[in-house]
Amino acid sequence: MNDTLQRRDRSTWQARAATLAHEGRCFIDGGYRPAEGGATFDDVSPIDGRVVAQVARGGAADVDAAVAAARKAYDGGAWRRVEPKERKRVLLRFAELIRADLERLAILETLDVGKPILNSVNVDVPFAADCIAYYAEFADKRYDEIAPTGPTETALVRREPLGVVGAIVPWNYPLIISAWKLGPALLAGNSVVLKPAEQSPLTAIRLGQLGLEAGLPPGVLNVVPGYGEEAGKPLALHPDVDMISFTGSTEVGKLMLRYAGDSNLKRVALECGGKSPHVVMADANLEAAASGIAWGIYYNMGETCHAGSRVIVHESVKDRLIDAIAKVAATITLGHPFDPATQMGALIDRGHLGRVLGYIESGVAEGARLALGGRQVMADTGGNYVEATVLDGVTSSMRVAREEIFGPVLTVSTFRDEAEALRLANDTVYGLAAAVWTLDMNVAHRLSGALRGGTVWVNSYDRSSMATPFGGFKQSGFGRDRSPHAIDKYTDFKTIWTAYT
Ligand code: NAD
Repeated sequence: MNDTLQRRDRSTWQARAATLAHEGRCFIDGGYRPAEGGATFDDVSPIDGRVVAQVARGGAADVDAAVAAARKAYDGGAWRRVEPKERKRVLLRFAELIRADLERLAILETLDVGKPILNSVNVDVPFAADCIAYYAEFADKRYDEIAPTGPTETALVRREPLGVVGAIVPWNYPLIISAWKLGPALLAGNSVVLKPAEQSPLTAIRLGQLGLEAGLPPGVLNVVPGYGEEAGKPLALHPDVDMISFTGSTEVGKLMLRYAGDSNLKRVALECGGKSPHVVMADANLEAAASGIAWGIYYNMGETCHAGSRVIVHESVKDRLIDAIAKVAATITLGHPFDPATQMGALIDRGHLGRVLGYIESGVAEGARLALGGRQVMADTGGNYVEATVLDGVTSSMRVAREEIFGPVLTVSTFRDEAEALRLANDTVYGLAAAVWTLDMNVAHRLSGALRGGTVWVNSYDRSSMATPFGGFKQSGFGRDRSPHAIDKYTDFKTIWTAYT
């Protein structure tokens, strides 16, 4: 199947997309149901501005129903009390069903968010499956602890699931980020209510069905699509939700902390925005740096939280680096997302298109030089396409240097010495990721230690695996997705102290 998909042409993909049935209802307690009162909203594709599906416009009543189903499933114990090897079996089957549903999930992901179809096929769907399978393996391999005590006592330190987890996710990697939450939360024995972004509900709804088919008892995984204010907010304020695992903007992340304080002091894990720097030293391999930088910002149209959006380069090599980045950018094909040759597709929606173009304009108005791209293209399609863009001569006071653009826009600033490079790189409220490009390992160690980011790459960018934690410092959030550490945030410690004679 995979081989056939790799070779498929654009018209076949589009024909398949046109005939694929979409499910837009909520998935609650093991079944589909419309939103209370039958409310729906238009799910619009960024590819051409057409309406893909009518999707349930979830609200407080739907969230109440989903949380009640999740609580009932949790209290009933049909999932959290299940034998570890059985929990592993179900989660592995869930991963297999995701893999088996590759074609449908990839089409839905591309239709919803405009990413190139072969990225959906080769990255988003398989990575989501890999993530669920990764956590499945912990079910029968993690041990709890026995604390040191005196001779007539035993203190067990057990990890217990939290109960009902609300997962609120963004639209840029809908499947992968949902899997980052579902894998550890379900492995730990929690029930989950998943709230996808209003721009990208279709694959999340499908996950609800696949989880049920894999053997998750009804109510363990529920999906309520809808707008942030209407479905996300009641979930985050809900008195019977024990934790919110949120990925999205820093602005909305801050609201999550308020909602927790205003309700039941539920736990909150935040994965928020970024403005990640590349520090390029004078001795760097500029060709390698240019490739890492170009792919690090233009992959997924720059709609990546850890996109390397700020280049901070030694003044002596700046022009050569920009030329090299432009050469790489020229090889990255911008086009229709269902064309298999496309490597950059559409931006998520009209509003975001306007924001990205507005940032480019503001950079130029504040004195930056447009060194590459900068224009909207393919406007006749009705979709939202912007060229790979480089703004040169950017200073750290400009909006384009300070705010997350979340589009294919790279800013370039220069430094004279290492101290200035470090100061510029860390001069941001964000701290998700960073990179250092140098052949001097002393500089690499010094800078990677001093850069404030949850991940620092040296002579590479965007390399990762399930084995490494992912998340931010500063206003990029706290809590980590991926790796065994992610499991901890979905569990609580319980001490059971027993005295005996
Ligand atoms: P967003 O914050 O607008 O929305 C994220 C989610 O929150 C959506 O499901 C949305 O419906 C919901 N939401 C919005 N307002 C809400 C409210 N008042 N109450 C409850 N829920 C609400 O973000 P977005 O535009 O979907 O995604 C882009 C952002 O996500 C960027 O800032 C990006 O950097 C960030 N992001 C971070 C990571 C990470 O791991 N750190 C990963 C991907 C994306």
